[in-house]
Amino acid sequence: MFTTAFAPKNQTQSGELPRDLFAAIEDLKKELNAVILAHYYQEPDIQDIADFIGDSLQLAKAAAQTNADVIVFAGVHFMAETAKILNPDKLVLLPDLTAGCSLADSCPPQEFAAFKAAHPDHLVVSYINCSAEIKAMSDIICTSSNAVKIVQQIPKGQPIIFAPDRNLGRYVMEQTGRDLLLWQGSCVVHETFSEKKIVQLKIAHPQAEAIAHPECETSVLRHANYIGSTAALLKYCQTSPAQEFIVATEPGIIHQMQKFAPDKHFIPAPPTNNCNCNECPFMRLNTLEKLYLAMKNRAPEITMSEEIRLAALRPMQRMLEMSV
Ligand code: SF4
Repeated sequence: MFTTAFAPKNQTQSGELPRDLFAAIEDLKKELNAVILAHYYQEPDIQDIADFIGDSLQLAKAAAQTNADVIVFAGVHFMAETAKILNPDKLVLLPDLTAGCSLADSCPPQEFAAFKAAHPDHLVVSYINCSAEIKAMSDIICTSSNAVKIVQQIPKGQPIIFAPDRNLGRYVMEQTGRDLLLWQGSCVVHETFSEKKIVQLKIAHPQAEAIAHPECETSVLRHANYIGSTAALLKYCQTSPAQEFIVATEPGIIHQMQKFAPDKHFIPAPPTNNCNCNECPFMRLNTLEKLYLAMKNRAPEITMSEEIRLAALRPMQRMLEMSV
C-alpha cells in the first residue's frame, strides 16, 4: 500500500537546473511526446505549463484519451495511479512520489477488505480518491462530479457501501434519499474549514456567495449557496451574477477562477486555526523543478501489478460508461 509521508520540498537531487524551466519543460514535452495533466490544486506555475487542467473526473477522461507516450501527472499518487490503470503501456510520471492523500490513506486495503466481507450483499461504490487496491475491491468508481448521478442509477433496494469519504457519502445520501453504508474516511484539508469563520465572512461580505466542495463537513455545507465538484465550482463562479465568493475548497482553484472571472473577487474560506491547513500539503509537494526533473530522468514512475490494475480498471470503466 502507498502511504502518505511528508518529504522535504527539495528531496529530489536537483543537479543543474536550466535557467528557463518553462522552455526546458516544453522541449522535454516534444522530445518525450509527453502530456502534462495537472489538478486544479497544483501551484500556479504548474497549472500554467500544463496541457490539461481538471478535477479528478476530467483528468481521468483526459488520461483515457491521450495519444502521448508519456503522462506527467501533476497531482497526487492515486490520480497518477488512475492514469496508469487506464494506460498500462504508457510511462506515467509523478513529480514527487510521496505526494499522497490523507483521504486515500484513511481507507487501508486490509481493513476495507474485512469491512466489505462483513457486508457481502452490498455493492461497493468508491470515490476516485482511493488507492488502486481499494478500486480493485470496488464495483463502481465515482467522483464528486458524478457520485449522485451514479448512485441514482443503481436499482433501489440494492444495499450500497460508499467509501472512503464520509462527507461526500452523507451529501450523496441527502441528494438521492438513499441509505448508504459509509466508510468513515475524510480529507484533512476539507475538514479544516471553520464554520464560525465562514459565518463571520458572510456577515462581513453580505453580497458574497459561499461555494463549497461536498468533501466539506455538513456544518460548512449548510452555509453554502452552491455545492459542487471543483470543476462545477469553477463553472458556477463564472455564470453566477454574484461578484464575490467565499470558496470552501483547496485554494489552488482560485488561480483558475481569477483567470476565468478576472473582475470577480474570491475569498478563500479560512481554516479553524491560524495556519495554511486549507492548502493540500500533498498536492503542494509537486513543484516546477520536480516536474522538470521527473521528465528529464523519466522517474519517478507509477507501477502496479497487472492483477490489481485489471481489477481496478473494471469499476473505472463502469464509471466512465455511467457518467457520459
Ligand atoms: S485535498 Fe484532500 S482529498 Fe484532495 S488530494 Fe489533498 S488530502 Fe487528498
